Amino acid sequence: MSDTPARIPISACPICGKPAVEQHRPFCSRRCALLDLGRWIGGNYRVPDAKINEEEEETPRADDEEAE
Ligand SMILES: [Zn+2]
Repeated sequence: MSDTPARIPISACPICGKPAVEQHRPFCSRRCALLDLGRWIGGNYRVPDAKINEEEEETPRADDEEAE
């Protein structure tokens, strides 16, 4: 027998950097898991602070202002 407690190191979520939860490892939430999954599938997922707007195209932001 081993007296060493099975200590699982908490890894940081690769998407947002928050501590990952076992349920959604290695992500912190289902949302981040889906974001990463979308990256593999489409290759054009959107993460607010992970992607820099290199090209500011004309984006209709009439709806955006009402969204918040
Ligand atoms: Zn996360």
